[in-house]
Amino acid sequence: MRLQRLALLGMFIALSGPALAAGAAPASVDALHLDWLDTQASPARNFFEYANGGWQKRHPIPAAYSSWGTFNILQIRNEKIIRQLIEQAARTPAALGSAEQKVGDFYASGMDRKLIDRLGVSPLSPELDAIGAISSISGLQREVAHLQMIGVDAMFGIGEMQDFENSSRVIGIATQGGIGLPDRDYYLEQTPKFRQIRAEYVSHIARTFQLLGDGKALAAREAAIVMAIETRLAKASMSLVEQRNPRAVYHVMDLVTLDRATPNFAWSEYFREIGYPQITRINLAMPKFFGALGQDLRSIPLEQWKIYLRWRLLDAFSPYLSKPFVDENFGMESVLTGAKQLRPRWQRVVRAEDGALGFAVGKLYVRKEFPPSSKAAVLAILHRIRAALKSDLATLAWMAPATRNAALAKLDLMGERIGYPDKWRDYSTLRIDRGPYVVNVMRANEFEQKRELSKIGKPVDRSEWYMTPQTVNAYYDPSMNDINFPAGILQPPFFDPKAPAAVNYGSLGWVMGHEMTHGFDDQGSKFDGHGNLRNWWTPRDAKRFHAATACISNHFSRYTVDGDLHVQGKLVTGEETADLGGLTLAWRAFHASRAYQDAKSIDGFTPDQQFFIGAAHVWASNIRPAEARRRVTIDPHAPALYRVNGTLANMPQFQATFHVPAGSPMVNPHRCVIW
Ligand SMILES: [Zn+2]
Repeated sequence: MRLQRLALLGMFIALSGPALAAGAAPASVDALHLDWLDTQASPARNFFEYANGGWQKRHPIPAAYSSWGTFNILQIRNEKIIRQLIEQAARTPAALGSAEQKVGDFYASGMDRKLIDRLGVSPLSPELDAIGAISSISGLQREVAHLQMIGVDAMFGIGEMQDFENSSRVIGIATQGGIGLPDRDYYLEQTPKFRQIRAEYVSHIARTFQLLGDGKALAAREAAIVMAIETRLAKASMSLVEQRNPRAVYHVMDLVTLDRATPNFAWSEYFREIGYPQITRINLAMPKFFGALGQDLRSIPLEQWKIYLRWRLLDAFSPYLSKPFVDENFGMESVLTGAKQLRPRWQRVVRAEDGALGFAVGKLYVRKEFPPSSKAAVLAILHRIRAALKSDLATLAWMAPATRNAALAKLDLMGERIGYPDKWRDYSTLRIDRGPYVVNVMRANEFEQKRELSKIGKPVDRSEWYMTPQTVNAYYDPSMNDINFPAGILQPPFFDPKAPAAVNYGSLGWVMGHEMTHGFDDQGSKFDGHGNLRNWWTPRDAKRFHAATACISNHFSRYTVDGDLHVQGKLVTGEETADLGGLTLAWRAFHASRAYQDAKSIDGFTPDQQFFIGAAHVWASNIRPAEARRRVTIDPHAPALYRVNGTLANMPQFQATFHVPAGSPMVNPHRCVIW
């Protein structure tokens, strides 16, 4: 399943050349963005503020956003390009069933505000009627299966994964789920802020039921029932930190064992109901959750489950319904993220289309935005970073030969993919027309769910990408052992052909080193070069490496956000290992390049200083307190401020470059070392 896979992918953010060779176009001073600096701030006390303070002052967060940074600006740039491409498709008559017809019609249906508002909730009537007609536990199970297929997060999640122990095989996976708040902590934490968010959530559920026509008192009772059920599911759920251990979420079972692990639930019937009766074994990722859910199936009255399902349906599809539902849904989003204003309709539809038809859109996008020459330029940097990692692994003093050989073999086997897939996704069986909008969304969800489930039992398709080409992000996949850089992130400020090489190494070089390091972070290092969960470390080396990543965890745990909330060191260990390892590799690759020999000072800033300024600029951003809280609870990456300061505080190269005295906040006295 996509969600489960994403939990394992080492992404650059949670959730966008020839110029480097000697003799290329002269580096532009503008591309160093010295106007982003706050030269009143001290680089030795807070480098993030020094590098980005000027930018921060000039870029307040727009009302429709919960945070605002370089990633958002790139994303909006992409969204505007995509809007033009889609609008063109919507205007041009295309053959029925062609990708262009679907891209154009999806957008037209999303933009048809009049039809959407006139229909209100009526497109969901067949679904609401089906929920109302449930009269038995087996009927409940049948309806849950159907809702999951059309994209509703009801009770739990179902999908596919590469088998951890045999990466050439695709197996099914069932995961915990069925809650509306971002994570179990939102239901269980007893601090005033989390209590307040829960109270707001219950009111939001009640108001949504009122929009369906339920009286105020009834709606309030229903909301309380939903909250009680979701809280039970949350209590049975595994924490995000626990889920980082692949062994903890890997329990392959046959039908007999599955039924025993999930009382009152018939798995073979369920597989028939979702349309895949041939499935006989899956990974029941969180057995404790399913054990509790099975008990609840009988102990919670059927009428209450029906109220819960009604809510899950509305929670999934309110953003695609009429104005009252959209506004009510945004009200809750606002509580969770701090965003103050709904984004324009075109932007919301473009975002939805990215999920529904993202690769059809991506094909149009790369044709316009990503010439083959970009690929070559980017590969040149990537290969220098790769060489730096190879040389580190070959010379690490503490690594025993057995571990070293396995590590080098893993790096040699690591695949690299730039820009976009070689093989485009086939949308021919997906039906899209001019409306209703929400029906298109349901069809797209079902298409995607079937596409994923169809992979079970088949050989792994190694050409598949998990991010669309227009995505401003990158990822490492431990089961594939490959690193992926979509076209969307291969543009300024990450990669700028006009920028000094130092800046490109500090920014894109960091992204690349980060993804490569994921193959060797506390999680990725549990998989071998073929993507199998298999220990290749000698006990002594494993201990040494564990101490290095524990250092990262301790270091980041000291940082706080929104006043009282500590960064969860154990949640961010993998990502911050990748940040430190990655930036160190980028530094070495820069120093080994010819571009370094030719690099010049700009406005008094040495090439080494430019490198760190370029790195910090990746994270130029402002964030609202509610969003900072949400991210620190669920995001395996540290906040932007600490990705910069926490990483640099562990780099002696940084201390030497900016003459940072010992004892300053930008120096970790117990320095963590990955490479
Ligand atoms: Zn990452």
